[in-house]
Amino acid sequence: MVKHQAAEIVTVPCLADNYAFLIHDSATGATALVDAPEAGPIQSELTARGWRLTDILITHHHHDHIDGVEALRAAHGATVWGAAADAHRLPALDHALAEGDRVSVGDLEGVVLDVSGHTVGHIAFHFPGAGAVFTGDSLMALGCGRLFEGTAPMMWKSLQKLRALPGQTLVCSGHEYTMANGRFAQSIEPENSDLISRLERIAAARRDDRPTVPSVLSEEIATNPFLRADHPDLLAAIGHGGDGGAAVFADIRRRKDQF
Ligand code: ZN
Ligand code: FE
Repeated sequence: MVKHQAAEIVTVPCLADNYAFLIHDSATGATALVDAPEAGPIQSELTARGWRLTDILITHHHHDHIDGVEALRAAHGATVWGAAADAHRLPALDHALAEGDRVSVGDLEGVVLDVSGHTVGHIAFHFPGAGAVFTGDSLMALGCGRLFEGTAPMMWKSLQKLRALPGQTLVCSGHEYTMANGRFAQSIEPENSDLISRLERIAAARRDDRPTVPSVLSEEIATNPFLRADHPDLLAAIGHGGDGGAAVFADIRRRKDQF
């Protein structure tokens, strides 16, 4: 898999608890940024690596994901990609995207998924060759974004799309919220042994000030309560008799908002 080896993914901490990501295609030298919380740390990372930014990919319209776009576009002449549905509230787009559209970063190709829920018009970028999905504030490590604009059934559908990707996919999400998410996850499924061991590794990472993002999709499926709203173990843990799904997801999301 030449393309897999050619892709380098760098996590860039921004603001208080945001993450941006660089995707570098060593074959062509192209470099994409996913989300631009602020320009400074991203520019520093590009300079340190000697990379020129060719593309900016936007997941959703919140300011902590777009505020650095214009400065970086101006500095690099980068091409900006984002959701057509959000074109009215995003920086000017060179490419307006909808579900199923392709984005190209040098020789690397990504596919757009509509993952509305946190906002309506939120998209994710799946790069199969790089083995990574960039989820913004939809699926997060041990959590998911708050439902500011969309509905619970909408977010549940979005999470199911992400859950269907290959298990080894790296989930590159937008925030370091993992410790707080973990405390909540434990309140839902205290007996989940995969969760217990993951929480130990997360606590160790945070003690050393290491990011817990990206995470691995298979691990999210085993431990993230928002991906488990139809899993027999989670349903048993909360005493739900049925098959679960959107209604249980809605219940878990509500509990998290009050946690
Ligand atoms: Zn957001
Ligand atoms: Fe955010």
